[in-house]
Amino acid sequence: MTPVTSRRTRIPAAVLFDRDGTLVVDVPYNGDPALVRPVPGARQTLERLRSLGVRIGVVSNQSGVALGLLDLEDVRAVNARVEDLLGPFDTWQFCPHGPQDGCRCRKPKAGLVLAACRDLGVSPRDVVLIGDIGSDMGAARHAGARGIMVPGPATLRREVLDAPAVAGDLWSAVTLALGPELAGDAAYPDPGDEGGSESLGSAA
Ligand SMILES: [Zn+2]
Repeated sequence: MTPVTSRRTRIPAAVLFDRDGTLVVDVPYNGDPALVRPVPGARQTLERLRSLGVRIGVVSNQSGVALGLLDLEDVRAVNARVEDLLGPFDTWQFCPHGPQDGCRCRKPKAGLVLAACRDLGVSPRDVVLIGDIGSDMGAARHAGARGIMVPGPATLRREVLDAPAVAGDLWSAVTLALGPELAGDAAYPDPGDEGGSESLGSAA
């Protein structure tokens, strides 16, 4: 029987996640922590990675800052709420620029992924980025990381077709990221204990 430790090279050193539309339900240019709603299975998926010692991070475009719809404190407040609901992340990287700013961080450029890798002390080649749209996959590719798409309401069909790998939900995406040696170690947990599957209701 092969010990799991001999397959350690199969396990990513870190898994990075897009925030809006991937970890939490997308609310465009959201600056209100009260509107943060995790997607179903997010908490369990992240706990699974934490329990395996895989570092986790968030890489997020926040062009609402450049557009004057958000300030940095709004972004930080929403990020803090994400951690309240989903637990701690090892690194947070966000781009406050707009599409016209020509920055090097906004996805699909590689800057956010590379900054996260530097912060974590890992090689992009040992990193998986999970996101819901083509710019996430582009950022992974440009950084030399592996991209896995979990399509959502914002995903274009063309982006799904172009994605290097596609999974139906976060749990499945992480199963893919971990590889077959670990895929069978944990069954999908009962999602009934998570708030993310509740009705979103209305904040008004
Ligand atoms: Zn930027």
